[in-house]
Amino acid sequence: MYKYKKRLIIFLVIHAILTVLHNIISRDVSAENFYFINNWTYYLVMSWGIFIVIYALRLNCPNCGAMQVIRGMSILSLRWPEAKCHKCGVEIE
Ligand SMILES: [Zn+2]
Repeated sequence: MYKYKKRLIIFLVIHAILTVLHNIISRDVSAENFYFINNWTYYLVMSWGIFIVIYALRLNCPNCGAMQVIRGMSILSLRWPEAKCHKCGVEIE
């Protein structure tokens, strides 16, 4: 699971960079232009965020199927993926 953890960290770092980039670029975008296509960095950040969520959702145990990152409905149940399944203890990688 270490490989997935590293990948997830890289994805989140890219997301942070994109968010900063969006803030710099969209400084000139006025409120009425907010939802227009020239605010493309906004959509970029949003779609990248959705991609990370989908990626995290797909990280599950091959034995019991338990999700390794999103372990519940609350934000507090988010965990980094580990070498062993948090539920059944099977070695994932
Ligand atoms: Zn498991």
